[in-house]
Amino acid sequence: MRTDVEARLARELPGYAQAVLDALEAAGFEAWVVGGWVRDALLGRPGHDVDVTTSAPWRETARVLRATGAAVHETGAAHGTVTAVLDGRPVEVTTYRVEGRYSDRRHPDEVRFVTDVRADLARRDFTVNAMAFHPARGLLDPFGGEKDLAARVIRAVGEPRRRFEEDALRVLRAVRFACRLGARIEPATQAALEACAGELAGVASERVGQELDGILATGRAAWALRHEFAVLAAAVPELAPMAGFDQRSPYHAYDVLEHTARVCAGVEAFSGGEPGAALRWAALLHDVAKPACYSEDVSGRGHFFGHPEEGARVARRVMGRLAIPGEVTRAASALVLLHDFVIRPTAPSMRRMLVELEAAAPGQARQLAFSLLDLKRADAVAKAPGCRAYATELDEMAAVLRGELAAGAVWRVRDLAVGGADVIRERGVEPGPGVGMVLAQLLAAVMDGELPNERKELLAWLRW
Ligand code: ATP
Ligand code: MG
Repeated sequence: MRTDVEARLARELPGYAQAVLDALEAAGFEAWVVGGWVRDALLGRPGHDVDVTTSAPWRETARVLRATGAAVHETGAAHGTVTAVLDGRPVEVTTYRVEGRYSDRRHPDEVRFVTDVRADLARRDFTVNAMAFHPARGLLDPFGGEKDLAARVIRAVGEPRRRFEEDALRVLRAVRFACRLGARIEPATQAALEACAGELAGVASERVGQELDGILATGRAAWALRHEFAVLAAAVPELAPMAGFDQRSPYHAYDVLEHTARVCAGVEAFSGGEPGAALRWAALLHDVAKPACYSEDVSGRGHFFGHPEEGARVARRVMGRLAIPGEVTRAASALVLLHDFVIRPTAPSMRRMLVELEAAAPGQARQLAFSLLDLKRADAVAKAPGCRAYATELDEMAAVLRGELAAGAVWRVRDLAVGGADVIRERGVEPGPGVGMVLAQLLAAVMDGELPNERKELLAWLRW
């Protein structure tokens, strides 16, 4: 008997996914939708990519799906995976399989193809990810994933310790799914995860980077910092000194870790839940170098001279190691570098901020300017209560910044209404560094409001 939930899932399954199941089953194989789509559809979020698991060997899968007119890419044939594109939508189709150990911590040593879908579900990480669905046969849920999903519980499939030892990345995946679902981690799974977190050191760093980026993307990094810090510090050892680090400063009511958690929550709140990857990484790492830059004055008060510069270096190193895209890394480290940069609600101050951002992350100043204000706002409200009024000053700065941008503010040489060729012609100088110096002078004059950014006026200035 089909339950209401199964009937709803059958209705919500996209037609192109149904077509994949139908084609494989018409050819005599068995096929199910599995993993993320089933989980998210049960939660009432049916937008997830569709993954299919099938008894068909991958060559058969490719043959059967090509015959329907789909484009088929052999994306992971060694592991039994092909990607079919129907109606412009990709569907990953994987042969039922079980995995051996991950001794290079990157790929399973061997995959063994199997004939029973239940064996395939048993190799999956958490009960909420180990359900299969077929519109006619209904939900296949041998490990109680539906119940755990409803109760918001992350529970390992099988013996937790053994599952984390097979692949330590699952430690970080547990935290990612807990953040994503607002779930708690079941006690035996939590105990195993703590016991195995150290093994993350041996996992390929780009896999770690992907999961960590995924944790930040849930918008719940604050929860992870407060409840699963041992895991995060095992993934990124540079974070470890933040825990319990007393700032000994009247500006700070919290240790560096709790302050950072509050800043992570703050950037979500101030950006309406859409801070973007760079701002999320910057929130996580903005004070990472504080413990290393700590000094105490004669009165016993703590100072952190140079921590933004050192923090930006640490951010570049960490994010580079984790294979985060270069553009995100440059943007995040620019935000870390400038998080303490002094700004005021005046047009010249906002223009200076744009110039600094441009220098630190070429081409990204405009969008980063608002991110920097959000970071500073989150930083202000996460300090001592006396610092919070600064957040309202930042609203004023945002208004000034918007006005400047709307008025066509210029902060890059290449936005000037004249270029190097004009300088060479009008000044009669040789091409070379001298040209750049003249353009820099011109930019300074335009930014200070001494000259309008108009070609006629700028040419006259060059001739003069
Ligand atoms: P997301 O929306 O985050 O992509 P997802 O469920 O699709 O969610 P993926 O990482 O794409 O997650 O993996 C797809 C499925 O493969 C998971 O639902 C899970 O069943 C299984 N899986 C992925 N990685 C592992 C792993 N390291 N160990 C065990 N099972 C895994
Ligand atoms: Mg996925």
